[in-house]
Amino acid sequence: MNSQDTLLVINAGSSSIKFYLYGISAERELSPILGGQLEGIGTQHSRLRVRDAQGQTMTERQIAPRHAADVRDAQEVVGTWLSGHLSGSPLAVGHRVVHGGPDLHAPVLVDDAIIEKLQSYTSLAPLHQPNNLAPMQVIRERLPHLPQVACFDTAFHRTHSAVADRYAVPEAMYQEGVRRYGFHGLSYEYVAQRVKRALPDLQGGKVVAAHIGSGVSACAMLDGKSVDSTMGFTALEGLPMGTRPGRLDPGIVLWLMERGMSHDEIQHFLYHDCGLKGLSGIGNDMRELEASDAPAARLALDYFAWRVAEGIVGLGCAMNGIDAIVFTAGIGENSAGMRARIARHWEWLGIRIDDARNAAHGPRISTEDSKIGVYVVRTNEELIIAQHTLDLVSAR
Ligand code: ADP
Repeated sequence: MNSQDTLLVINAGSSSIKFYLYGISAERELSPILGGQLEGIGTQHSRLRVRDAQGQTMTERQIAPRHAADVRDAQEVVGTWLSGHLSGSPLAVGHRVVHGGPDLHAPVLVDDAIIEKLQSYTSLAPLHQPNNLAPMQVIRERLPHLPQVACFDTAFHRTHSAVADRYAVPEAMYQEGVRRYGFHGLSYEYVAQRVKRALPDLQGGKVVAAHIGSGVSACAMLDGKSVDSTMGFTALEGLPMGTRPGRLDPGIVLWLMERGMSHDEIQHFLYHDCGLKGLSGIGNDMRELEASDAPAARLALDYFAWRVAEGIVGLGCAMNGIDAIVFTAGIGENSAGMRARIARHWEWLGIRIDDARNAAHGPRISTEDSKIGVYVVRTNEELIIAQHTLDLVSAR
């Protein structure tokens, strides 16, 4: 491999495409070259921002709404920007894909059959999967010989036992794919790598990692392998999130149906109008809620902290104990206030947070005498995608 080789990583959601370019050294080390984001897809305020590895702005400009009406259009804009700024084509493109379904247990090279299979999982991740696949399809049409790799949020959880993989429903439904897939796996894989390198004392240990961002889940990791997750069949289950409710009595969905709501209305409600946003009536941004004096904001924060705390320690049942808890993602990495609020529910377990360490965002935020170590790790899903992409194209 020559020193000019690069890899592109794409993480596409409904309102933004994030992209990252990595250089590959002769020793196959990856180093970031640039990172960009086209946000506001489908709105009047689409913007393209690109920064180099030092954080210097390379581009920051408004994109005409007609050029970013959907994710496909937005990918065309990103592709045009990249081809104008790169000397050659990247070696390969790695994509974040939320759902790998029951069959795909590891990253795969993309071909037409894989795209078709991934499209068939759309109902399992209706708001994520089509957006994840759109850039892949655009690149395949424009540059059919450029290798592309799909990396799945579900793959890290395929080490679950038969019990962890099930709901208490008839076996026939399990065979049809009604399983507890789990998500945020690329983030957990990164956290597992960091724990192994940076916290060798925890090697082989019982770790609960909590990805607390817009989406929220927690994962029980035994010796770096996922044994259980709070998310299951879809990214709706488990802990409360920015706009999704997490745990919910299925009877509530029946109640909404009885009131005449359609499938699409219920889907929209569950993915966009619940969680912190629904509870507070203010919004889903943790910073805004933490700054607010409104009683409803306080209620939303109290609910969030309680249920997240409960979900994290509940995962101890999967491992018969917990040696360490690791916070990650937007809220987990940056909100000392929410971490402290969550940890207050763990005092009965002998968990103690050191205020100064917590304010400094760790890495260790618990006191020396805390019965369980509590840490903060900055996640890096893109690096995991780049590593998998490099591994797969090198093996070809
Ligand atoms: P995603 O990548 O899924 O969009 P993130 O991991 O970026 O989500 O997390 C977004 C959440 O993190 C938002 O609720 C945001 O308010 C919160 N967040 C980001 N920075 C801070 C901060 N400094 N303090 C509190 N919350 C923060």
